[in-house]
Parts: sequence; structure tokens; C-alpha cells
Amino acid sequence: MTGTKHAEIVVIGAGPGGYAAAFRASDLGKQVLLIDKDPTLGGVCLNRGCIPSKALLHISKVMDETKSLAKMGVTYGEPKIDLEAIRAHKDKIVSQLSGGITQMAKVRNVETIQGSATFKSNLELNIETENGHVSVSFDKCIIATGSTAAMIPGVPADHSSVLTSRTALDLVDIPERLLVIGGGIIGLELGQVYAALGSQVSVVEFLPNLLPGTDPDLVKPLQRKLKKQFESILLSSKVTSVEPNDDGTLTVTIENDKGATTKVYNKVLVAVGRKPNSNLLNLDSTDIEMDERGFINVDVYRRTSVKNIFAIGDIAGNPMLAHKATHEGKVAAEVASGHSAVFDVRAIPSVVFTDPEVAWAGLTEIVAKENGISYEKGEFPWAASGKAIAMGANQGKTKILFDPESKQVLGVGIVGPGAGDMISEGMLAIEMGADADDIGLTVHPHPTLGETFAAAAEAFSGTITDLYNPKNKGH
Ligand code: NAD
Repeated sequence: MTGTKHAEIVVIGAGPGGYAAAFRASDLGKQVLLIDKDPTLGGVCLNRGCIPSKALLHISKVMDETKSLAKMGVTYGEPKIDLEAIRAHKDKIVSQLSGGITQMAKVRNVETIQGSATFKSNLELNIETENGHVSVSFDKCIIATGSTAAMIPGVPADHSSVLTSRTALDLVDIPERLLVIGGGIIGLELGQVYAALGSQVSVVEFLPNLLPGTDPDLVKPLQRKLKKQFESILLSSKVTSVEPNDDGTLTVTIENDKGATTKVYNKVLVAVGRKPNSNLLNLDSTDIEMDERGFINVDVYRRTSVKNIFAIGDIAGNPMLAHKATHEGKVAAEVASGHSAVFDVRAIPSVVFTDPEVAWAGLTEIVAKENGISYEKGEFPWAASGKAIAMGANQGKTKILFDPESKQVLGVGIVGPGAGDMISEGMLAIEMGADADDIGLTVHPHPTLGETFAAAAEAFSGTITDLYNPKNKGH
């Protein structure tokens, strides 16, 4: 395929941001060209991230739940693991979803091209395809090319025993001993998957806490569980060398204030963050401006410094989350199609899909304390929830941070099974400017985990009956 093309709107990258942008622009009547270097649409999230990891996390969660049934009087035998069948199950989910996106592109008449796009100017792209170059001129362009796993200097990135989230999800084998470098979201999610499938997992985190930046009371129940599932959790520690051995194992040296230790691992998973893919686009041939970390600068319309070019998702800054990309993609598509839209959200929720799940949105206690923001808190321990006790989830917690003056919700934090689903009610409360009475006086079904959200608001208002609360007196 060689030649030239023109598109009213060209979208580079078919992840959750890019395909949402392409489909929205097409629905608004624009002629859209969607380019991705991968043969399947859906980007990292669908093909090598959110979706395959959730397929595996579901398996590890159910395996753990069946074990916990022993306390409830039901005992199963040891699980038999058929790695090939697990891989096939995961791949089937991915292909079902990416097939759906391909289908939706077709019915919308969104043209797709498989190839690597680079800029030639503020108005033109070159696409390198398997069969040659295509030159594409455009009226508007939306960049949605995402991010790549960051590596640590000195770690042999191309060694087959050094995994990133991408290769870890291929599930080539179950290493006997796995070291996870980075106690963030990916490290803990994938660490839990490999631990359930039989690896002895250790995690090394540079900072003093797992999931740094997350309120410690939300991390505590997860950390308690991980202590039982993992061989070791090394905090305030850094990996100073990873040396390959002839048998394919890796000798790793880890340093902390107690000194240096050297151990051999079958595999190492590097999960120390991600970096934007801005270096792959030949942005020098445009007037697009970036910050010092390589994120493309954008305004509230997601326009770059070149007003006919937009950028969305991971490449346009933190947080690097699929749902932020999708939201931005729709805004960019609407503005590029001549409609009025703006990226104006009060919060973006975060979810760690471990077991238990950890989710938060809006103001956190860490940020409030760091910035002297005053807040009051309503909190409901799941140890007082009938549903949570019945599920063996009494370690969970729901908390809401309120504005002391207006009593409106500033932030929500939840830990426990299903926290990722429950946080949406918190998001709605934040976006709608709900106050404690709006939540507490909304009838929530019993017995559910969802009612802990209303209970947290009632604990704040002093109207709760499911806990003894001295604050209740006179309310
Ligand atoms: P992260 O930022 O969540 O965690 C990286 C961790 O590595 C941090 O705790 C950091 O302190 C630590 N670290 C950095 N350098 C280190 C070193 N040399 N030694 C030891 N520890 C080190 O990043 P991630 O887990 O790699 O995830 C990448 C991105 O992908 C994040 O932006 C995340 O939001 C996103 N993501 C989200 C989800 C989800 O929403 N559930 C899932 C996966 C990934």
C-alpha cells in the first residue's frame, strides 16, 4: 500500500482513548481515519493490559476464595493448573473484545490502517505499513499513542527472564521465584496473579509504602493479605544490580538501610511506572510542545500548541488511566468536529484490582494533609456490615471526606471486594456536589456492600444506627 490520502480527522492510536475519539467524531459526521501499529484494535489496555490482567486476576481471586471456603466448612483439593488453557481463555476474551471494536469501526465507516505514523509537518503524516508508505494530510489530528513500561538502568531489558507487564501477561511459564520491582498498581496486581498460580513472589519497593500516594488505611488490608501470599515485601529498598546467569536465572542485589542482599530469581518483573510514547512520533517536525518528562502539553479542549492537533490519554499526562483517555478522547473528538466541549472533571477515580480491591476518587487524606486542606471524615468499617461478614470481607472500609462548611463530598476511599465498582457512586456524588444528607437519606438496598457508602455518610452526620457513635447524641 503506497500513496496519499486526506482525512478530516485522523486518530493515531486505537486504544480506549483513540477508538473512542474516532467513533465519536464519526458519529458527529466526520470522515475519520484510525491508525494503529498493531494488527488488532484496542491498544495496550485491551490487548496487553487492563483486560488480560483482569481475566487472570479473576482466576486468582476465585482460587483464593475457594481456599477461604475451608473456614466456612467447604474444602477443595489442590488446584490443577493448565497454563495453556488459561492463556487460551485470556486470549479469547481479548479477541472477542477487539473483534467488537473492529466491527464497530466497520459499521461506522471509520477507515483503519495498520502502520506506524510519524509527523512530516503540522498538517501531514507518514504511515509506514507492511506494504509501503502512505502520506496522509489532515484537517485535524488526535494523538493517542499511549505509553510504554519504563525500565531501570542496568537491568537487562531484552533478557527473556526480565518481564514487563506486557510479557508477564503472556504467561509463558510460572517461575518458581519471581521478584517484582515496584510495589505500585501493576506490581501488586500481577504479583498476586503469579502468587496464586504458584510462584514464590517477592516485591521490592523504593519508597516506604506499597502503592505510594494512596491513603495508608486503604492499603493496610491489602498489605496484610499480601504478607501471607508473598514470600517477602521489601520497602525502602532498591535493586542495584540484575545479573543474568547461564541457566537463565537472574542474580539480584537489593540494598536498603540494613545493607545489601543478593538472591537468585527465576524471573524479574519490572513495574516501575510508564513513560509517554512521544519520542516515536517525530514531533520535531511540528510545533507541538512537550514538558520535560515527554508529555504533550494540552489545554482544556485537549488541543496541543498546534491548534489542529489534539493529544489525549497517557501521552497527554497523568494519571495514565484508560477511563481518563476515553473521556478526553470524546472531548477532543467533539471539539475537533466543531462542537463545544471541555475537559472539566472534578475527579478521576483510581482502582487497584487486587484482592481486596483498593479504590479512591477526589481528595485523599494524604493530599489534604500535605496541602493543609481542611476536611471532616465519615467512615464505616466493613466489620459492621452483614454482607461483608457473610463474604469474609470484614477487613474492608468505606470512607468519605467532606467539606467542613458545605458538607459536600470532597473524596471517597474504599478497600474491599468490589471497591472498584462501588467507587462510581462516590464519583457521582463528587460530580453532583452531593452532601452527606443526599447520600445518607438515599435508601440503599440491604444487605449489600453498597450500603456502606450511605453508612459512611450517616457516621459523619451522626445518624447511623449500625454503629455506636457518640456523635449521634442529639442528632
Ligand atoms: P506505578 O507508578 O503505579 O508504580 C511504580 C512503583 O515503582 C512505585 O511505587 C515506585 O515508587 C516504584 N519504583 C520506581 N522505581 C523503582 C525502583 N528502581 N526500585 C523499586 N521500586 C521502584 O506504576 P506501574 O505499577 O508500573 O503502573 C504504570 C501505570 O499504569 C500507572 O500510571 C498506573 O496508573 C497504570 N495502571 C493502572 C492500572 C489500574 O488502573 N488498575 C493497572 C495497571 C497500570
